[in-house]
Amino acid sequence: METLTGASLEERFAGPLATIDEAWSPPPRLLISEWAERYRYLSPEASAEPGLWNNERAAHLVLPMDYLSPYRACERVVFKSSSQAGKTECLLNFIGYIIDLDPGPILAIQPNITPMGEAFSKDRIATMLRDCPTLADKIGKVKARASASTILHKTFPGGHVTIAGANSPSSLASRPIRYLICDELDRWEATKEGDPLLLARKRLQTFRARRTAKEIIASTPTYADVGICAEYDRCTQQWEWHLACQHCGELQFPTLEHFRWDNEDAATVRYLCKSCGAEHGLAMADKVKLSGRWVCVKEGPESAAGFAFNEWGSPFARWDDTIAEWINAQGDPARKQVVVNTVFGEPWEGEGERADPSALAQRCEDYGAEVPDGIQVLTMGVDVQGDRLELEVVGWGHRRESWSIAYQVLPGEPTSGEVWEDLLEVIDQPFERADGSQMKIAHVCIDSGAYTQHVYEAIKRYRRHSVTPIKGAPGMAREEIDRDWRAVMKRRARRVRYGKPPEIVGVDQIKLTVFHALNAIKGQANYCHFPANRSEEYFLQLTGERLIVAASKNRRPERHWVPIHSAVEALDCRVYAYAALLLSRADLSQPAKAAAPAPLPVTPPVKAMPPPRRVAPSHRPSFAPEGWGL
Ligand SMILES: [Zn+2]
Repeated sequence: METLTGASLEERFAGPLATIDEAWSPPPRLLISEWAERYRYLSPEASAEPGLWNNERAAHLVLPMDYLSPYRACERVVFKSSSQAGKTECLLNFIGYIIDLDPGPILAIQPNITPMGEAFSKDRIATMLRDCPTLADKIGKVKARASASTILHKTFPGGHVTIAGANSPSSLASRPIRYLICDELDRWEATKEGDPLLLARKRLQTFRARRTAKEIIASTPTYADVGICAEYDRCTQQWEWHLACQHCGELQFPTLEHFRWDNEDAATVRYLCKSCGAEHGLAMADKVKLSGRWVCVKEGPESAAGFAFNEWGSPFARWDDTIAEWINAQGDPARKQVVVNTVFGEPWEGEGERADPSALAQRCEDYGAEVPDGIQVLTMGVDVQGDRLELEVVGWGHRRESWSIAYQVLPGEPTSGEVWEDLLEVIDQPFERADGSQMKIAHVCIDSGAYTQHVYEAIKRYRRHSVTPIKGAPGMAREEIDRDWRAVMKRRARRVRYGKPPEIVGVDQIKLTVFHALNAIKGQANYCHFPANRSEEYFLQLTGERLIVAASKNRRPERHWVPIHSAVEALDCRVYAYAALLLSRADLSQPAKAAAPAPLPVTPPVKAMPPPRRVAPSHRPSFAPEGWGL
């Protein structure tokens, strides 16, 4: 294994140098890290330690930066890291070096122009240009000649830097570029026009032919095999930032498995050597981090070099803070994924993207009342099938703790009126609390994706504000409730008066929320309760899909739900009941008051309402699980 640390220039470049195009005169022989130590001043707005750059403070950035220097054959650097790794500073040093010593056209791509591209330009590039005298001089000369610079386009002698958004391929215009800087790759969304990374790379062709093109891609990872992980895997040479054991000297790539702590107390954290078992407590953390060095784990040509770095070795983070974040994220898969991606710098393997039906079935409980204490609002989701309606009534409490109150199948074709009458009976039926008070359903969502006109007509007849047709729209990027579309449809509805416009519901995103909730631990937010009489089939349907991640045609991580059970109506009903909760605008930020009277029905009728239909308890629709198997 070859290791590199603060070795001298001669040591680092003992190998053959890059082939240099003869028509091109090389800039003064400075590596990017050397340039930074002479000319780069950190801005007070962006750094806890403003002032001249010091390579010792971020030793892990030296090698990736220097691979981007014009003297190296390396054409592409892939930096896969945790979020507090100084990668933005690495990009800025690269830009500063280009402007100062090796000018050419730069394209810097952020996930979007507003706000990320603009922030990168205003808060990072502009402050760097202001605070580095050598750069301020160069930009100043251009400014005097012409006011050619804008927020997204800055010119300097011999080149320009253009900031683009991956979400708007038109901003990746067609002029050739020599330097490509890709930030936060895993937050780039694929667009209709194609993969923004491939579009941008095409623009490097002219300079690639002259062997002067350079590219850096930096990101925290999301999933294995896609995005930055795929780019890293494709590198011809790979490096990892290892830490050395202070007892036996063994270098190891630090992961969560190297750390121990006692009783959920982050202050007791220590680093464990896998080779000799020696423990290094917090007091030794700085010493261990100083021992860090790049270890080559895949040897090969340096044309594409990948670097993997995480927060365990970062001088900008503390082990106890990292462990505390991990402890606090337990029980919440969404938060755990954030920690794994942005702190450990590792891809998320996924838990919370599928749920275990038998584990859920085993936690069924006797509520002791139709509506257990703690429930603040009731909602209903209705799925429309060719020969029946299926519905679930869900009670919601503080921090979205939920109780499945009823699940029912109403036989009948949606093209006939009868099944809709049956549904109205259930919608209007009150539910009883332990203290005898009653509670009604606050909001109902009915899927109008199929039998659309029949759903609209039924809802029109109901004359209930609280019953909303919904249309599920696929795509993980879609919001849970599509507000924009809603505004448009509301306006249109006023014009054509065809009844209540459907809400567009981002079902894929809501499914993720539902699965995270199904995996929540008792006593924590989002925990789901189920009543004692629920069938096995119910749980198979509720958990009947799983989220998979695959590389799309254009190699962006793309997540979609795939069925793993023959029917998923129970899952659909839960998704719609959750959409109904969002549309009810119930505030669940406070715990329910124990002694307070039960919330009154919040389903005011529109205009005149038919006389309330009281369903005698003996005629109530049955919520027993017999309806299964229709
Ligand atoms: Zn050791």
